[in-house]
Amino acid sequence: MKIGFIGLGIMGRPMAGHLVKAGHEVTGYDLNPVEFGGALAGGVAEAVSGADVVITMLPADPQVEAVFPEISANARPDALYIDFSTITPQTSLKVAQQWKRSLDAPVSGGEKGAVDAVLSIMVGGSADDFEAARPVFEAVGTTYKLVGGPGAGQYVKAANQLVVGGTYALVAEAIVLMEAAGVDAAAGLDVLAGGLAGSRILELKRASMLARDFRPGFRIDLHHKDMGIILDAARGAEVAIPMGALTAQLVAAARAQGHGGLDHSALLKVVEGLSR
Ligand code: NAD
Repeated sequence: MKIGFIGLGIMGRPMAGHLVKAGHEVTGYDLNPVEFGGALAGGVAEAVSGADVVITMLPADPQVEAVFPEISANARPDALYIDFSTITPQTSLKVAQQWKRSLDAPVSGGEKGAVDAVLSIMVGGSADDFEAARPVFEAVGTTYKLVGGPGAGQYVKAANQLVVGGTYALVAEAIVLMEAAGVDAAAGLDVLAGGLAGSRILELKRASMLARDFRPGFRIDLHHKDMGIILDAARGAEVAIPMGALTAQLVAAARAQGHGGLDHSALLKVVEGLSR
């Protein structure tokens, strides 16, 4: 397929590279141009014109809202639009009202998931468009599901970020507790990872958290954005998520303390600071 790919950042760059390796003809565009294995365009219009599939992987709502008018003005009217960005369900709905063949398809799995092409993808849209997008999902992920109509993918991603943020906060508290008690925290986390407390976060992040290596990864700034989406979604659905509200405050503190550019595992810095 001929694919126009906008947003070649931490996630988009390796994803676009996998689409090239899968045999697709990919033209990419980013405000900060980077090599990804395919052709580079000088702008959005050039990247999307004539494409069968248009993809965006942008930071947040404002960037998707800024780029979408240029896509709709220049893409083929029958092009399939897949937005992998994590944004509000409301913006995904607005896009779906303006572009008939569109899917919201936020991803989970982090930079490593993107590099290894093993992302989980939660998709909102029509069954036909989901089927048409299968070769794209196949190239960048391993688990992908249609979870409802337009915007549904963003609600599932909000649920995902709720669990990820809360888990980081609790793993951080476990580390602070074990270190303060003078036990071997590394051995302790190994045991936790093998029992019911085990999680993908413990598996992938326990060593870097113990070493206080907070290079991103997924930046605190982006998780702060996601906590806003989560609280807003909960409000809209008229449900209470007290753990989510607490996690949102810890993420906000990390950002306010100047750690917005660090990996979200840097929640450990905030939790540590509470006991110093
Ligand atoms: P990023 O900031 O590394 O990449 C975004 C890219 O978009 C940047 O390279 C930026 O230059 C480009 N961009 C911004 N505005 C643009 C415009 N108008 N035109 C063209 N390019 C533009 O962010 P990321 O970490 O790759 O995340 C992208 C999205 O994926 C976010 O919504 C994030 O929440 C989500 N996400 C990230 C991760 C992760 O681990 N990093 C995991 C899952 C989901």
